[in-house]
Amino acid sequence: MNSAWSLELARLIALVTSTVLLGLVSDQWILSITLHALMYIFWINHQVKQFERWIVRGAHKSDAPDSSGIWQSMVQHMYRSQQSHKSRKKQLASMANYYHAVMRALPDATIVINKEYEIEWANKASQKLLGVKPNKDLGQKLNNIIRVPEIETLLDKKTKVKRVEFKSPTTPDITLSVFRQEYEKGNYLIIAHDISHRIATQKLRKAFIANASHELRTPLTVISGYLEILLDDEDVQPGLKTILNNAFDQANRMDNILDNLLVLSKLEEKRYSKDTGDDVDVRELLERMVADFRVSYAETKHTFKVEAVDLQLRVIENEFYSICQNLVSNAVKYSTPGSEIQISWTINEAGYGCLSIRDQGEGIEDEHLSRLTERFYRVNHSGRQVQGTGLGLSIVKHILDNHDGYLDIESEVGNGSEFKACFPGYRLISDD
Ligand code: ADP
Repeated sequence: MNSAWSLELARLIALVTSTVLLGLVSDQWILSITLHALMYIFWINHQVKQFERWIVRGAHKSDAPDSSGIWQSMVQHMYRSQQSHKSRKKQLASMANYYHAVMRALPDATIVINKEYEIEWANKASQKLLGVKPNKDLGQKLNNIIRVPEIETLLDKKTKVKRVEFKSPTTPDITLSVFRQEYEKGNYLIIAHDISHRIATQKLRKAFIANASHELRTPLTVISGYLEILLDDEDVQPGLKTILNNAFDQANRMDNILDNLLVLSKLEEKRYSKDTGDDVDVRELLERMVADFRVSYAETKHTFKVEAVDLQLRVIENEFYSICQNLVSNAVKYSTPGSEIQISWTINEAGYGCLSIRDQGEGIEDEHLSRLTERFYRVNHSGRQVQGTGLGLSIVKHILDNHDGYLDIESEVGNGSEFKACFPGYRLISDD
């Protein structure tokens, strides 16, 4: 038993002894018991009152009640737990201050919004990049403060868009990439990052490629012209003709690369609004294209099977034709002569209109699939050299991006490939 409880027990023994003594001396047992019980109750009441007052005044060490035994022990426990609570609170407050200071100093604008899109917290950079004032704008709806359509898109949960890009509302020279990150169900962090430098570098790169392709055009046409003249010359020895033929093929290939690079750099400048395009009868276009292919690839003896639903597509027609042409000519190039190529136009489960080109070629290994749309990415196909620029799928992807669509590739080695070019539902026009 600890000393506090021993003292309490000693006190009780003294009380009982005093009760018995008074009872024996006076022979008034009831009076003695009542008197001592009352004394004990008053004493306990006094201790409780002192304890309660001390707690109400903040439980400071300086005015701790002057008590002993179990009461003194209670005061000490209370004081210690109060102290440890205070120091924990201090620690947490300093941690919170530290993280606040870090978040405030982040160069990226960071804003915390709740389920109603109301601003709960914003750092310093939010004011500079987005015009959100860290103190004044708290409680305001984010889309009321940043009035750009991209923010509406980012906040609209139905769109599932997680990243948008737009010019800073405060400094138009700055382009921002704004990202939405859920940190608790329905609550979001909005983070805006300055990507002006990246955009400027991209512009430079695009301008360089466009200029270089343009400038290389004229000398290449001259070289091709001379080669053609030499090839037509009957005095040229047959051995030299083979070399000239080779050079002519390579000049043609280079010409194709320049063509594709120019197409790509033009596509990079574009982004279409929802209603841009012509209403294209896809079935009719596919049949027209296949008829051309049957003539131009007659020697490969491929068979083409076309299936299409009655659904028009709002799209830039020549760009859609270029998608079909690229995908079908790849299917021809990368599959065995005489095999079947299936072309279909359908709606998928998500409501997208998808053009699918399926071949029975040798297929593509998984590791290449995600890289096929990169510029100049080509896969080494076993045993044969297929002519190409490595830019066709890059062009297809750009056209689809500009129409808010996507390219899906499925392939199995030995079992052929399927390339699906899908367009959003709002671009589909049904006949009824
Ligand atoms: P290329 O001019 O080389 O055909 P693309 O950008 O059209 O350029 O295609 C990139 C690469 O993807 C090709 O080099 C080829 O290796 C691969 N590829 C494209 N389509 C197919 C296909 N249907 N089957 C197998 N491989 C394909």
